[in-house]
Amino acid sequence: MRTYQLFIDGAYADPAGGEFFDTVDPYRGEAWARIPKAGREDVDRAVAAAKRAMYEGPWAAMNATARGKVMRRIGDLVAQNAGRLAEIEVRDNGKLLAEMLGQLRYHPEWWYYFGGLVDKIEGGVPPIDKPEMFAFTTHEPVGVVAALTAWNSPLLFIAWKCAPALAAGCAVVVKPSEFTSASTLEFAALTKEAGLPDGMFNVVTGFGPDTGQALVTHPDVAKITFTGSDATGARIYEQAAKDLKRVSLELGGKSPNIVFADADMKMAAAGVVSGIFAATGQTCIAGSRLLVQRSVKDAFLDRLLTLAKSAKIGDPMQADTNIGPVATPAQYRKILDYIDVAKAEGARLVLGGKPASGPGLAGGRFVEPTIFTDVTNGMRIAQEEVFGPVLSVIEFEDEAEAVRIGNDVIYGLAAGVWTKDIGRAIRMSKALRAGSVYVNTYRAVSFMMPFGGMKRSGLGRESGIDAIHEFLEPKSVWISLAEDAPENPFIMR
Ligand code: NAD
Repeated sequence: MRTYQLFIDGAYADPAGGEFFDTVDPYRGEAWARIPKAGREDVDRAVAAAKRAMYEGPWAAMNATARGKVMRRIGDLVAQNAGRLAEIEVRDNGKLLAEMLGQLRYHPEWWYYFGGLVDKIEGGVPPIDKPEMFAFTTHEPVGVVAALTAWNSPLLFIAWKCAPALAAGCAVVVKPSEFTSASTLEFAALTKEAGLPDGMFNVVTGFGPDTGQALVTHPDVAKITFTGSDATGARIYEQAAKDLKRVSLELGGKSPNIVFADADMKMAAAGVVSGIFAATGQTCIAGSRLLVQRSVKDAFLDRLLTLAKSAKIGDPMQADTNIGPVATPAQYRKILDYIDVAKAEGARLVLGGKPASGPGLAGGRFVEPTIFTDVTNGMRIAQEEVFGPVLSVIEFEDEAEAVRIGNDVIYGLAAGVWTKDIGRAIRMSKALRAGSVYVNTYRAVSFMMPFGGMKRSGLGRESGIDAIHEFLEPKSVWISLAEDAPENPFIMR
């Protein structure tokens, strides 16, 4: 078994307390590596290194163009190591190699994009209304950033958070999920190899309530960028408020995939399946509510069932597997509990609904792709995030009802609309309260498209040009041109 070390101040090191914990391969059900458990002392050391690197180290002294080149080298190194990193992700989170390889091959784009932005962070020179003044504005890095990530796409979240943070001039301390820490620790070496100065990127691993807590409450952390559940996000937000720390949150969802009678049914069925069964439903933008227009419900459901039944469940490393294991034992229990909840609420089970077993599935925890019909939007199965392969089917009559049901949840992360009517597509995209609306497609992301949630799905946006401002603070500089003191120093200028 491989034993990992923390990454602090440009070097790998054992945790001060000497404690480690196992990380488990969800497919085999076996521990495959040991992860260091960082305590307060390690967190203090990492934050101190970040602060030093940011304010006293070479990063701030380097010109912006040179910093951008280092960031682009990080992208190149990820590209060269994509296969190796993807396999580590799969060993830790059990998602399909095909998906993780795609993510890792795409990951460098964030470093290229934000690396290209480093020397384009410009201030302004307002035509100031006071003739005796010259004034200008700059954008300053917000301070040391704590980046906390979820287990479903660890390195993609590193790119989303750390590329804009470093581009803005901030140093980061990352706390990956305790279930999937290995890839982030491997990635750390690439930042050093690329020439990122020591202390600009640090990794402390451990559990949320201790390592995570120590990091988010650290007085020298100025900004927290978090991906995870809304319950944890809300708690972190509350704690951050005490110190007025800046916070961005990427949280959960209960996204509607809305199929109108005029949709291309083949495309819509594929989109609905990819929305809920890809990644075994363990994706924040899972289209976990299918809203289908009543007139086509039965025909659409037949098509959907045929496609969902064709899914091959198995080893995530195999190219022909469609659905892999559930990532953690707690998540597995949660999914099965929600299936029971749905049954008790009177939803009708038309597919799956139980653990999947069979040849090659003995080591992991698998859940069959599951579909419930006769769901009403007030049911818990329609309101709460399952984070598993469980689809709730809800009927609607017309566009107005689709909007009403679509928006009638506490979340607002994503929504899918399937229609051939361009007017309806635009009306729906305006009316749906979601950070991303997909029309005749689903589950796409790009380094240049803002990503994030409305309502309880989050705060702030990642990706896209504006994401850099999540890590910057404007500064106003006033310079007097006067040659004499003001006549009355007791009044505002
Ligand atoms: P989680 O909230 O349990 O954990 C997220 C991170 O926070 C982990 O690193 C964890 O160790 C840490 N943490 C937990 N408790 C903490 C505490 N008290 N203080 C500080 N840190 C703490 O979430 P998860 O189970 O890892 O991920 C699943 C959730 O993430 C789902 O709700 C999903 O929708 C959401 N998610 C959102 C996005 C998005 O971009 N919007 C993407 C992926 C996942």
